[in-house]
Amino acid sequence: MTTTTGAPRPAPLPLLVLGQGRDLASERGVECPGDLPAPSDPGLVERARAAKAALGERVFVLGHHYQRDEVIEFADVTGDSFKLAKEAAARPDAEYVVFCGVHFMAESADILTAEEQTVVLPDLAAGCSMADMAAIDQVQECWEQLAEAGVAERTVPVTYMNSSAAIKAFTGRHGGTICTSSNARTALTWALDRAGDGGKVLFLPDQHLGRNTYARDLGRPLEDCVVWDPHRPMGGLTPEQLRDATMILWRGHCSVHGRFSVEAVEAARRDIPGVKVIVHPECRHEVVALADEVGSTERIIRTIAAAPAGTAWAVGTELNLVRRLAAQFPEQRIAFLEKNVCYCSTMNRIDLPHLVWALESLVEGRVVNAIRVDDETSRYARAALDQMLALPGETGKD
Ligand code: SF4
Repeated sequence: MTTTTGAPRPAPLPLLVLGQGRDLASERGVECPGDLPAPSDPGLVERARAAKAALGERVFVLGHHYQRDEVIEFADVTGDSFKLAKEAAARPDAEYVVFCGVHFMAESADILTAEEQTVVLPDLAAGCSMADMAAIDQVQECWEQLAEAGVAERTVPVTYMNSSAAIKAFTGRHGGTICTSSNARTALTWALDRAGDGGKVLFLPDQHLGRNTYARDLGRPLEDCVVWDPHRPMGGLTPEQLRDATMILWRGHCSVHGRFSVEAVEAARRDIPGVKVIVHPECRHEVVALADEVGSTERIIRTIAAAPAGTAWAVGTELNLVRRLAAQFPEQRIAFLEKNVCYCSTMNRIDLPHLVWALESLVEGRVVNAIRVDDETSRYARAALDQMLALPGETGKD
């Protein structure tokens, strides 16, 4: 097979349905057992309103910034994952917390809410590809190999919020901390101090946030960082490399933010007069290094809101948020940084039919898609989350 230019055309890749075929382990579920309303039902908005009104104070709906507009409309509060988990914890009277976000966020909400509260994720297939890149077995094996190399006892784990409860619990068991994209600098400084001279940090699961925080925010050398590849023996590293490194970065990334490119930053600067580029720290280091501003979703929102009218922005984060920002701040000129980046596919699993199904089921007295973290995992994960809350100057507001 050739293209019109005569060059060989690459063989077509088979479409891989999430959670099926070779991808079995990467998603936590792809089916909804319930009787979902038809997406074409013109009464969906009314049904969602009616179900929410019927539940009243018994339900609290959380909406992550990357959710669709049709879902955000029904959120009692919007925010990033940490803000939403704290909001859930601050509503002890809500019997049900419906989390419009992804699986790890619902787990964190379950860990931080009271025993008698139930967290519901409207679609169990709303996972996170980054969180799925660090499985607990792989992380435990890594730790054993660090121990064999003689470095585990001098290593402190720092785990990004975007991780499974099991990985958070691993972090708690080994005296580490959770971090968010806003407090990663504080968390990393704490962990490096705790590790002491010659000590190390194992940063999970987002290599880009770890590298950007270490090199950009703390101004430390990139050469101190190595990447642990869980699919290679000994992480693909030699014992010498491990001993010499300060930052052991897990080989994980966000499948959305990892796609923003240097070429897109250069194109924005070329095509949009006076543009400022603002990106999320989950972007690759070379993209972050070229940006004018770097920050979490909450910080991106605050920065744009505070900018003088007429400022031009090219924004490198999830498209749903960028489109809402453009609508919310028409006095700014807001562009999406990269034309080849799509919505987060798992965030977008939560749609109005799933939300209606989850709410109407609660009205009928049926809890669907409850997210429950077992007690032991919850206890250690909570220790790591509490450590984050105890960090000096912890704001948690980004
Ligand atoms: S945007 Fe990235 S980190 Fe966030 S849920 Fe989607 S894949 Fe995960």
